[in-house]
Amino acid sequence: MTQNYTLTILPGDGIGHEAMTEVRKVIAWLEDSRGLSFTLHEDDIGGAAYDKYGQPLADETLEKCKASDAVIMGSVGGPQWDDVDYNLRPEAGLLRLRKEMGLYANLRPALVFDALIDASTLKPEIVRGLDILIVRELTGGVYFGEPRGIEDLGNGQRRGINTQVYETYEIERVGRVAFELARKRGNKVHSCEKANVMEAGKLWREDMTALHASEYSDVQLEHMYADNCAMQLLRNPSQFDVIVTDNLFGDILSDEASMLTGSLGMLPSASLGDKGKPGLYEPVHGSAPDIAGQGKANPLATILSFAMALRYSLNLNDEADLIEQGVQDVLVSGQRTPDIMADNCTPLSTSQMGDALITILNHNMKKVA
Ligand code: NAD
Repeated sequence: MTQNYTLTILPGDGIGHEAMTEVRKVIAWLEDSRGLSFTLHEDDIGGAAYDKYGQPLADETLEKCKASDAVIMGSVGGPQWDDVDYNLRPEAGLLRLRKEMGLYANLRPALVFDALIDASTLKPEIVRGLDILIVRELTGGVYFGEPRGIEDLGNGQRRGINTQVYETYEIERVGRVAFELARKRGNKVHSCEKANVMEAGKLWREDMTALHASEYSDVQLEHMYADNCAMQLLRNPSQFDVIVTDNLFGDILSDEASMLTGSLGMLPSASLGDKGKPGLYEPVHGSAPDIAGQGKANPLATILSFAMALRYSLNLNDEADLIEQGVQDVLVSGQRTPDIMADNCTPLSTSQMGDALITILNHNMKKVA
């Protein structure tokens, strides 16, 4: 019997809808051409959910997400919700979703497509063939640590406080995600912290070392200070395979690494929790209100996020490979949305880009057959 996969689809706001329409084409293609079967539950998140339910993530939406094999999200936000209460803003829905689904590992690939090499601000010889995966701890560290706040010192001065805190179980579980992923890639993990000046960093290094020795000694582990990692990403990025780091450093290093590739419309991400639980897959970009509804959005970041869902939540590696190869081939063919336009290329709208990918997927399937 064909296995059925249940996906919750949350287009969100702005260009999320346009991009998700193109993801649906890819899902339909997988059903037609690969004999797969999907049950899709579509719902709202962000501003659209606020308008409909009075909150940016309704309880029933959350339950649907938790009961799915994977959640595919577009993007949230827009100026029309700027005046909404902080805890009801579109972004609050996304934060709640990540927290309630127990998503503690954020995966951000930085992959340089040969056809887009000129979009990087670095020299082609530095970024050619680049394929880095950053695993950022997502639910701990200084963004959540207590105590926090701003104190009035009573003498005209104030004190701002945030606390960097990690416990062993938090370090080990994100470490396991990184080591497991490295085994399926280049088998190398760089663990980044500031063990030289921070106790939480010292613990991070000791716990990673112990985890490596007890469970993952077949994987190459290197420790690196986070500031050095920031430099090395620009100097010699191809030395990296998987980078694992805490919430704060991961926030910064993943943005830096993704910009090596040069184009926001091409960047997917995944957030994972415990094995067997659904992951959340979403593009790195936001809802792009400046181009929403105009057919100018690049849907490839959302489609590549869906490919990550196939790989990491549904274990459909061959299908993920097909889609990623299809994206490479569309780019090589010179078909481009405006954000990645270059000389002598053919301009496409959002939906034309989806159609071009399907044409190439069909062509590639015929080659295989
Ligand atoms: P943005 O990522 O939406 O847009 C930045 C720039 O990149 C814009 O000029 C936009 O047109 C362009 N762009 C982004 N994605 C593109 C795509 N797929 N194709 C072509 N061009 C693309 O960031 P912003 O403008 O700072 O934020 C807009 C809204 O999105 C805000 O409300 C913000 O809070 C929200 N946001 C949401 C997420 C998320 O849902 N995870 C992430 C970032 C920002």
